[in-house]
Amino acid sequence: MAKEKNLQCSFCLKSDQEVRMIVSGAKANICDECIENAALIIEQEIGRLDDPSESRKPIESKDIKFPHKPIDIKNYLDQYVIGQDDAKRVLSVAIYNHYKRLNQEVKDDVEIEKSNIIMVGETGSGKTLLAKTIARMLNVPFAIADATVFTEAGYVGEDVESILSRLLQAADYDVEKAQKGIVFIDEIDKVGRKSDNPSITRDVSGEGVQQAMLKLLEGADVLVPPQGGRKHPDQKMVKINTQNILFICGGAFEGIDKTIARRILTSAIGFRSQTEQSAHDKDDLIQFVNSQDLRSYGLIPELLGRLPIVTYLRSLDKEALRRILTEPKNALMKQYKRLFEYENIELVMEDDALDYIVEKAIEFKLGGRGLRSICELIMTDAMYELPSSKSKVPFVINAEYAREKIEKSKYSYLKVA
Ligand code: ADP
Repeated sequence: MAKEKNLQCSFCLKSDQEVRMIVSGAKANICDECIENAALIIEQEIGRLDDPSESRKPIESKDIKFPHKPIDIKNYLDQYVIGQDDAKRVLSVAIYNHYKRLNQEVKDDVEIEKSNIIMVGETGSGKTLLAKTIARMLNVPFAIADATVFTEAGYVGEDVESILSRLLQAADYDVEKAQKGIVFIDEIDKVGRKSDNPSITRDVSGEGVQQAMLKLLEGADVLVPPQGGRKHPDQKMVKINTQNILFICGGAFEGIDKTIARRILTSAIGFRSQTEQSAHDKDDLIQFVNSQDLRSYGLIPELLGRLPIVTYLRSLDKEALRRILTEPKNALMKQYKRLFEYENIELVMEDDALDYIVEKAIEFKLGGRGLRSICELIMTDAMYELPSSKSKVPFVINAEYAREKIEKSKYSYLKVA
């Protein structure tokens, strides 16, 4: 049983030179690393089932002080995110309660449960930005993943657990820190059970992915390969408890306005006239979104049950896009001005140029996301030429200049069909 010479682990095939110890059995050998990995897997798969209370024990979190009140959180978000007041209020309360929960001392049967969040809103309306801004405010690690890259274990793609590898990396491999982080999972609407996504690299139904996500959301001990990728017998795993990780999911849920309309119009209130129905435009309806509407996208009730807070973001109108260009602390125009300042050149953006950018963003249907691409198309020539120029006069961009740059570029590729 003790260490012998020239042994090889039958699991990872490493030799006794590469590991600390190899234990040999009747017909096979196993190294210390594989024993450790196997023990963790057993603990995760069987231990948790044996003792369900185990994974519910609150993690020690006395070190978490949380002075921000919901109103302070909202005020902070206002500095970076334009509009979306309802989502900001809902998120502020959810974050505040989340921190109350982290500090709770469970004395009796009252245990505050986690409030994972789901945000419904068109692409580029600020879902990721909201989640990112919250993480920055709280100074906790933050990881983003796209639900469409997840596949059920065994398929080509990423294991759902890989999101925790990213969180661990964002926390500089500090497990304690990672366990209090925030995870944003985008495109949650694309893992629906009835999905007709033609991808052959994902499990056909998407339900397997949802089941795997359930495990993360319900606060379990999860084994995570620290470098990401697939679980591998060779790899040392790190155990992360997801109980205090806040999960925020986002999705566009295209066409959800019709589902909401149908629900509202067939509700107990009874029949309503066609005119009344058409009076509800898309943006009005989204404020009534609830979990029931999301079920029609094939999200399983168990998963929705773990995402109890549903909020929405409105699509950005002209006015909001215009404000996004100049108002947020980190506004695009402020960033470009700074870039030109490094060349000792003042950038002057005329109002009509800003209006033109907004007009194009609406045309490209990319929400706030389109603003940056449009600005890049307009500015690239200047950013290429001006650093070598001797002239340091202010550089003025008006609508005419912007239009000329956009029209000569391959902008039409930006357009969403
Ligand atoms: P989503 O996740 O909803 O698809 P993002 O949050 O990634 O959209 O938005 C893309 C970019 O658009 C952001 O990085 C930001 O520059 C800009 N943006 C979108 N919405 C807003 C908003 N409400 N306020 C400020 N900037 C926004």
